[in-house]
Amino acid sequence: MLSPRAQKIKPSPTLAIDSRAKAMKASGIDVINFGVGEPDFDTPDNIKEAACRAIRDGFTKYTAVGGIDPLKDAIIGKFQKDNNLAYKREEIVVSCGAKHSLYNIAQALYGPGDEVIIPSPYWVSYPDQVLLNDAKPVFVKTVESDSFMVRPEALEACITKNTKALILNSPSNPTGMLYDKKTLEKIAELAVKHNFYVISDEIYEKLVYDGVTHVSIASLGEEVRAKTIVVNGLSKSHAMTGWRLGYAAGPSDVIKAMTNIQSQSTSNPNSMTQKAAVEALNGPQEFIITMRDEFDRRRKFVVTELNTIPGMSCIMPNGAFYAFPNTAKIYGARFGDKTISSSTDLALYLLEEAKVALVHGEAFGDDNYVRISYATSMDDIRKGLERIRQALQNLEIRK
Ligand code: PMP
Ligand code: GLU
Repeated sequence: MLSPRAQKIKPSPTLAIDSRAKAMKASGIDVINFGVGEPDFDTPDNIKEAACRAIRDGFTKYTAVGGIDPLKDAIIGKFQKDNNLAYKREEIVVSCGAKHSLYNIAQALYGPGDEVIIPSPYWVSYPDQVLLNDAKPVFVKTVESDSFMVRPEALEACITKNTKALILNSPSNPTGMLYDKKTLEKIAELAVKHNFYVISDEIYEKLVYDGVTHVSIASLGEEVRAKTIVVNGLSKSHAMTGWRLGYAAGPSDVIKAMTNIQSQSTSNPNSMTQKAAVEALNGPQEFIITMRDEFDRRRKFVVTELNTIPGMSCIMPNGAFYAFPNTAKIYGARFGDKTISSSTDLALYLLEEAKVALVHGEAFGDDNYVRISYATSMDDIRKGLERIRQALQNLEIRK
């Protein structure tokens, strides 16, 4: 018999769809994968070389659990430069990916009776990490017409004496939207007034477009900084998903608890990856601009095309590498003896009929949408969108 905890959670749907698309591809099926959020760029050579050097130099042993000092110092430098935030080493912990950092935060902070507020649509792992720690996710709906930002008054209405934390993600996965400073200031006021933590997942910080500026909520004053744990990592910014490196910055008592939890679970993040991460953060950063400019080109193309596909409409995201088209008008359409009545039906239809993998909005808490990751080649984007258009042309869709 599995534990009640294990029975409460499901596998990550984004990773599940990616596995399915990859398995179809391996069996010879020509699938276009818009499923997973993973840069199609290769990790820059200077970063790879730093890891190779670490291996050659024998830097292959256990390290300090929460990360080596040169890496903590590089992270401190990044926070100072990018976010105008000053942290000390004891306020930083390095983990095996941002997902791991978020998991350690959940372990360190949430428990039975705690409520954790999650604006929806949300990234798939937030609710399950809350459930894994016997706390309760409380969802607050956001809408397209508000650029998917939580309204401070809607947030305030969810706050109870049991509210332990709010999980904020800007730029957002899956909507691609960025919070503006004014809204963040109001959220910060609420966190301070009602004394809850803000978990600020800023992993898409470097991928912002149209000249907008990413603001870390922790930078909006000493009081909110003391209640915020900032999460970031190298998966998206430096195309390092497989290396597994993320980090968190926050109050030293929380960071210490996270480090203790890590010391009893994974121990240190991979030693070679840590050396590579020092190079990623301290070395040349031009690669990020090149990657971002290419994502920007694809973003404009994808969103423009989606808005010409019958049944779909899509707002222009200003961050990350996801488009989140509204597909509600398609629901009710029939093909053969079947009806498409949800985002899950639609995703399955597109996978089977068009051989295009994307993620159903239901996985992110909003069934009226699907998520398209455009972190794939322009050729695949053109082909995939054309296949979607063709497959939807075979359906009877409401105007
Ligand atoms: N947060 C968000 C919003 C994400 O999309 C991801 C996806 N990878 C992560 C955290 C975790 O990233 P990683 O564990 O690869 O650092
Ligand atoms: N974050 C990425 C996504 O949403 C990677 C998959 C995952 O970690 O769940 O697709």
